[in-house]
Amino acid sequence: MSVLRDKTTATVQFRGALEQIAIVLLTEASKHWPTLVTEFETPLAPMTGATLAQPVVFVPILRAGLGLLEGMLRVVPKAEIGHIGLYRDEVTLQPVNYYCRLPAGLAQSHILLLDPMLATGRSATEAATLLKSHGATSIQFICVVACEIGIEQLRSVHPDIAIYSAAIDPELNEFGYIVPGLGDAGDRYFGTL
Ligand code: URA
Repeated sequence: MSVLRDKTTATVQFRGALEQIAIVLLTEASKHWPTLVTEFETPLAPMTGATLAQPVVFVPILRAGLGLLEGMLRVVPKAEIGHIGLYRDEVTLQPVNYYCRLPAGLAQSHILLLDPMLATGRSATEAATLLKSHGATSIQFICVVACEIGIEQLRSVHPDIAIYSAAIDPELNEFGYIVPGLGDAGDRYFGTL
C-alpha cells in the first residue's frame, strides 16, 4: 500500500503493487466461495477434492478497474471478463453508462466487480445495478482504497454486496478524490499523468 500511495512510485512499480494487492484481495474474497466435491485419482490413490461451484466473472469498471484484472487472472485464469464503462455527467455529477459488455449466464455466475477506488460510491452503485439488471445475483465488490461515504452509498443500495478493500481512508475532497488515497488510480496505472 505504501508503494501505491507514494507519489514518487513509477508506473511499473505501481502496476506491480496493484497486481500483488489484487491477488491478496481475491484470496480473501474467495475464502467462502461454494465448492463442489469432485472425485479423482492421484497416481497413488483415489481421493476427493473441490472445484468451484459457479463460473467466476471479473467485471472491471473502466478504466481504473483494469488495473486489478491482471492479478485476478493469475489466481482464476479461466474466469470470464465483462466490462462496464461509466463517466460522470458534469452537470448532474451522476455516472452515465457508455459501455457494457457482459458474458452470458450472469445469473449462474459469481461476479467480482473491480474498481481500485471506492470514492463517492456512485459508479460502483450504478455498475452493480447494471449487473443485477443483467441477471447477476452473486456479486462481491473489490477495491484498494475506500472511504466511508462510498461504503455507505454502495451498502445503502446494494446491502447484499460484500465490499473488500485493502484500506479505508478518512476523507473525500471536493473533487471526489480520496485523501490521503493514492491519487488518480487510472492515471497512475496507465502512466497518463
Ligand atoms: N478515483 C481515483 O482514481 N482516485 C480517487 O481518489 C477517487 C476516485
